[in-house]
Amino acid sequence: MSTKNGQKTVPGDFKIEKASGLPRQEIVEKDRRYVWHPYTPMDDYRCSGDPIVVQSARGVRITDQDGRQYIDGNASWWTSLLGHNHPRLVEALKAQADEFCHVAFASTTHAAAACLAERLAERAPGALPHVFFSDNGSTAVEAAVKMAAQYHYQTGAPDRTVFLALETAFHGETLGATALGGVDAFRRPFDALTTEVIHVPSPGVRKKGETAECAEERALAALEEVLERRAEEIAAFVLEPLIQGAGGMLVHRPSYLRRVRMLTERFDVLLIIDEVFTGFGRTGSFWACDQAGVVPDILCTAKGLSGGLLPFAATLTNSRVFEAFLGGPSRAFYYGHTYAGNALGARVALEVFRVYDDENILEALPRKVAKLQQSFAGLGELPEVAEVRGIGLCAALEIGTSGGGYLERIGWRVFDEAKRRGALIRPLGNVVYLAPALTISDSELDELLGILDESVRVALRK
Ligand SMILES: *Cc1c(COP(=O)(O)O)cnc(C)c1O
Repeated sequence: MSTKNGQKTVPGDFKIEKASGLPRQEIVEKDRRYVWHPYTPMDDYRCSGDPIVVQSARGVRITDQDGRQYIDGNASWWTSLLGHNHPRLVEALKAQADEFCHVAFASTTHAAAACLAERLAERAPGALPHVFFSDNGSTAVEAAVKMAAQYHYQTGAPDRTVFLALETAFHGETLGATALGGVDAFRRPFDALTTEVIHVPSPGVRKKGETAECAEERALAALEEVLERRAEEIAAFVLEPLIQGAGGMLVHRPSYLRRVRMLTERFDVLLIIDEVFTGFGRTGSFWACDQAGVVPDILCTAKGLSGGLLPFAATLTNSRVFEAFLGGPSRAFYYGHTYAGNALGARVALEVFRVYDDENILEALPRKVAKLQQSFAGLGELPEVAEVRGIGLCAALEIGTSGGGYLERIGWRVFDEAKRRGALIRPLGNVVYLAPALTISDSELDELLGILDESVRVALRK
């Protein structure tokens, strides 16, 4: 580096570090030695972990360093809804990077954030005109939880500090979000640290022989009973709409959402809808809420919002919530994340909205949805498959009934078979599911479904 007019300049022969020149084995050795991976038992991994060393990703395909390709069966944890490296999103990212990447989002603003907030408010399922930015799904939920608590604190109901969530819920990993979670393996170690949450039965969990209608009635009766007893203590009900993702792809009907909205209004409990997984078309409509005609008090979005390019999230609120934070500095929401309103994320998200419009992403869905759901229904004929369920471009098989849940191994046998055949199908325990990019082509979807079909049959025979 040299200094010119007090400014550092980069010499002409400067080259950025090339991360991809290393041989595969060297990368894997470094990785096993130093990297602690998410959701990964590290003892096995350190001895024999065999990760795909990603070289590039385009559309639904990931290519490793040896040139092997894999179809990304879950759109990289449900984020790359428009496929990997959509050219327009990469272009938006580069254009923003040329201008600036990030500035602290207090006492400043920028065009991308302001325009994106407007787009989100216009596209929201109802009047949710106040947009709070953060970095990821967990923080979008964490912000919502704190907003709800402070809302009641400042509107004469400081005793409303308890939250309601479903028994099989997943809302992220920060402590507030962890408390809301219902998946035992994720929450148990932290039970002592978390705020009080009442978990109520999920309408997506059916007892043997029970219909969806009966499960819904049972779930609503339990919810109403809790509200009648304890509404004065309850701040909000936090809910994944129409499909609970990480809890095992459990689906419920729009009527459940509508009736929850009526109950929360009757008992003056805020409704927080977590669209982190479902938003941006996963369930067939732009928001899952749209199918029920329900407008929550607070809506959380992340994942598909930034097209799988980088971490970005938003929490939208109605005016009733927002206005409880007006009336002087002592009532403000003293909460924020360092990378809130990140310019790269905002610019990409703005382009995401334009791509949905220009490429008619939702209009092209019904045919693919039918193909996906039909293929899963076929696998439902297998005697080992306990249940098939799905909505939109997401379908799941629950294998066996041994009740091992998230720690069950059969899903991993399917994963191994699929990987060998060129697809990444990471399971949720004994639940094997697909949630590909919404832009997957018919022939790619056929290929992915073919691999899944064969992998399930082979894994069950082993
Ligand atoms: C993934 C997910 C989250 C957490 O998002 P992160 O970006 O992983 O923090 C929260 N809620 C739902 C419904 C999710 O699927």
